[in-house]
Amino acid sequence: LKGRDPLLQPEKGPKGKLVGPGEANRTSATLLALVRNKELDDMIQSMRDLERTWNHKFNYPWTFFNDEPFTKEFKERTQAETNATCNYELIPKAHWEQPSWINDDLIKESATILSEKGVQYSAMGSYHKMCRWNSGMFYHHPALKDIRWYWRVEPKVHFFCDVDYDVFRYMEDNDKTYGWVINLYDSPESIETLWPQTLKFLAEHPDYLHPNNAWNWVTDNKRAEHNEKAGGYSTCHFWSNFEIADMNFWRSKKYTDYFNHLDQAGGFFYERWGDAPVHSIALGLFEDRDKIHWFRDIGYQHIPYFNCPNSPKCHKRCEAGKFTDGDERILANEDCRANWFKYAHLN
Ligand code: GDP
Ligand code: MN
Repeated sequence: LKGRDPLLQPEKGPKGKLVGPGEANRTSATLLALVRNKELDDMIQSMRDLERTWNHKFNYPWTFFNDEPFTKEFKERTQAETNATCNYELIPKAHWEQPSWINDDLIKESATILSEKGVQYSAMGSYHKMCRWNSGMFYHHPALKDIRWYWRVEPKVHFFCDVDYDVFRYMEDNDKTYGWVINLYDSPESIETLWPQTLKFLAEHPDYLHPNNAWNWVTDNKRAEHNEKAGGYSTCHFWSNFEIADMNFWRSKKYTDYFNHLDQAGGFFYERWGDAPVHSIALGLFEDRDKIHWFRDIGYQHIPYFNCPNSPKCHKRCEAGKFTDGDERILANEDCRANWFKYAHLN
């Protein structure tokens, strides 16, 4: 070990302020939350968990995004939960609103059809905008211009286990692009033409496929009905309410071209393409699968699923190995982590 162990000694930051023990070694990163003012209490709950288990050692800044201005109360009460800097950012209309080529009448017709198929949130305009923003917009916000890494945090999630190292440093030093905790099957009705559109894109850009891709994971047929309804995509995806990732991947030419192709195709509005399958397909095809990392040690819950490691660092705050606290007979089938381990690898 060269020099001091960053985890043992607190040290003085700018202006002589005492900073978290790992702060001096930080990289370029932020905790990132898209959130509504009315979700303040739930956001505070997520912040408390993440500050307690991890961020108080590093004090990475928080960046909050909203399509409406944050209230004074939101700003004051979230800032009170952390020693780190909090930034409150308004999303420009050009990043949030539907693009000019999207037709309102067609949206209405599609919403009716999607609702009949039981697609959750299909008639909720803001949900479609949210998915598109998370897919192809957030990393273009001027507030993130000089930042490379982000950890996406939603309101009302839980973090259970103490994590003692800098996860952003880990990603950077080990040449990782994307970190995840839960792998799920998607509702194929929400993405019927996503895979066909992806194949169309690939036909135009065959050189974009990474030689060490995860094609077999993306196209796995174990859940045959899902694969069939989704036109050949397994529907297995990294559950994106948790992501620790490199924005430079989303900013790359490959991903930019892919997102623009999907955006032109209109499926964020005429179907209900989620940012999770969009991110996952792109990673599975265009990125080296060895750069995708399962954070097995981060105990996490977003209703109704868990990632709960068997470790004393979790203080029995969640039940080791438990996947869901919903109806197991139904929800246990939604877990597709095993597919990733089978086709990609365990790290
Ligand atoms: P679910 O997890 O798929 O059920 O979707 P959520 O309702 O949790 O939404 C995902 C994330 O986007 C959460 O962090 C929400 O706070 C945020 N979100 C969703 N819709 C909006 C919106 O219209 N405005 C803002 N500011 N945030 C939103
Ligand atoms: Mn959520």
